[in-house]
Amino acid sequence: DSYLNPHYAFDNFVEGDCNRLGRSAGLAVAQRPGVTSFNPLMIYGGVGLGKTHLIQAIGNYIKSTQSNKFVLYVSSEKFVNQFINAIRNNTLQAFTNFYMQIDVLILDDVQFLAGKEKTQESFFHIFNHLHQSGKQIIMSSDRPPRDLAGMQDRLLSRFKWGLTADLQQPDFETRIAIIQKKLQADGIYIKDEVIEYLAHSVDTNVRELEGVIVSLMAHASLNRREIDMDLARTTLKNIVVDNEKEITVDNIFDAITAHFDVTMTDLKGKSRKKEIVFPRQVAMYLMKEFTNLPLKSIGYHFGGRDHSTVIHAVQNISVLIDSDKDVEGRIQKLYKHFNRVRV
Ligand code: ADP
Ligand code: MG
Repeated sequence: DSYLNPHYAFDNFVEGDCNRLGRSAGLAVAQRPGVTSFNPLMIYGGVGLGKTHLIQAIGNYIKSTQSNKFVLYVSSEKFVNQFINAIRNNTLQAFTNFYMQIDVLILDDVQFLAGKEKTQESFFHIFNHLHQSGKQIIMSSDRPPRDLAGMQDRLLSRFKWGLTADLQQPDFETRIAIIQKKLQADGIYIKDEVIEYLAHSVDTNVRELEGVIVSLMAHASLNRREIDMDLARTTLKNIVVDNEKEITVDNIFDAITAHFDVTMTDLKGKSRKKEIVFPRQVAMYLMKEFTNLPLKSIGYHFGGRDHSTVIHAVQNISVLIDSDKDVEGRIQKLYKHFNRVRV
């Protein structure tokens, strides 16, 4: 058994600027494992961006085109556990021999080896043996090799022998393509405007995007209705509410002073300068959105302004969000800062 999940393929790994290098290097390695200069191939990137998918796609491709090759996928966590068991059971030699026979070794999440000196030593020997025998090594990591603290230098320098490629957050167009691909795979149709709305609202990572689509489909079938804007809005709102952490007045002041060039004194003071009024109004707007405070209390936090000032601020910012792309972008960024989706 190679421990590969057959679902992960190149066909369903949507290409975009965010993953082009990694994907094409992966394909090159899949076509000629151990032969290209991409050895080892190291794919790194944040959570949910497709590392496991991509490195397993390489394994699946090799398995289906070169069935004589021994391909093995293993998470670093499992590798560490196997190593520890081997020590405990006095079977270290068997462990090492097993790994040295592999033609294509796929080791996921190598950051997990950090600080585990003995396991690293063992992996170092396996790595050298495989590399010298022209076998392919593929790894993933949640950060670039230079940031892998707790990893031996001799290993790190070997990680850089081949090719290192990162996966980034998919841009809007790629998110659209990913959603379409998923829907297509499930034989589901939804309107373009809904797809765009989803791609617009969920811009963190692909796993989260998939999660939203899954719950959307669940809601639709549960309520026997089609997926329209209404359903999309409610579903998103529920999901967002689920992982919401309470946002306090102080959190908002912190964010505003960090995002704009203003101080607390400016925000609470009387200045009518545009550079200060705007951030102050944004702060009021966010307090209205993110806290349950009555308008009166919000005003109180701004040097004792009354509630009509807060109403005016909220209205003004709402109008600007709809009419001014720059303002919309800034607000979007603040929502993101607070891990919220604007619905
Ligand atoms: P990671 O290992 O980086 O945390 P995964 O490989 O587990 O991320 O990806 C998370 C989910 O997103 C998986 O279901 C995967 O199939 C999907 N996914 C990630 N990138 C893409 C992509 N470019 N095209 C299609 N699906 C993707
Ligand atoms: Mg993974």
